[in-house]
Amino acid sequence: MRLRHIPGSEEAIASSPFVVQEPEKQKGNWHALFGNANPIAIEVGMGKGRFMMELAGENPDWNYIGIERYSSVLLRGLEKRKELDLPNIWFLCVDAKDLGNSFVQGEVERIYLNFSDPWPKDRHAKRRLTSPDFLKVYDQILAKEGTLEFKTDNQGLFAYSMEVIPAAGWKILDYTNDLHHSLMFKGNVMTEYEAKFSAKGNPIYKLIARR
Ligand code: SAM
Repeated sequence: MRLRHIPGSEEAIASSPFVVQEPEKQKGNWHALFGNANPIAIEVGMGKGRFMMELAGENPDWNYIGIERYSSVLLRGLEKRKELDLPNIWFLCVDAKDLGNSFVQGEVERIYLNFSDPWPKDRHAKRRLTSPDFLKVYDQILAKEGTLEFKTDNQGLFAYSMEVIPAAGWKILDYTNDLHHSLMFKGNVMTEYEAKFSAKGNPIYKLIARR
């Protein structure tokens, strides 16, 4: 994502009532924060959060946590959040590599990765959110039967993910090379990037995996 730093964004995030400021302190206590025992889904790299906020509105019996490492990007999501009355969503401004500090094993029921940065150069492969090191982090926090759902328009990143995810011991439960023309499209909620790329006619790839 092209990023322009917004002056004051760190301060705005630090004082936002919609952001959990010290997520390590919630580790093991997220259900208490939500005030219910509903399952928790997270989006890693949520950008401006359209997907998460729409899901939260549609599914009051789920809890949602949007994770974005850049304050300038998260800030744009918080502007939208202010207009909505949603009791079942929080945001974290952290790097996904540290998620094991914020959640105990089994606390997360579903992980969404949407249009993750492709990092096409081999020397940057470790930064891809479906790389083996990140899969280890997801393994640390995901419930036993929990799922990982990944959408992208990037053929290279999808092919890479279809290889490394099974190699790391996960099963691909379902996948499509053209989500918008497949049975998997039912109930699909679009992300910001998905709206942009599908409008250009790019096919959208999706996979669902479980350990
Ligand atoms: N998911 C959104 C969508 O589909 O519209 C945004 C996609 S955008 C291309 C990818 C986002 O992931 C960026 O906002 C980026 O800052 C975030 N991101 C990348 N690596 C991350 C990491 N290690 N931890 C948290 N966020 C990350």
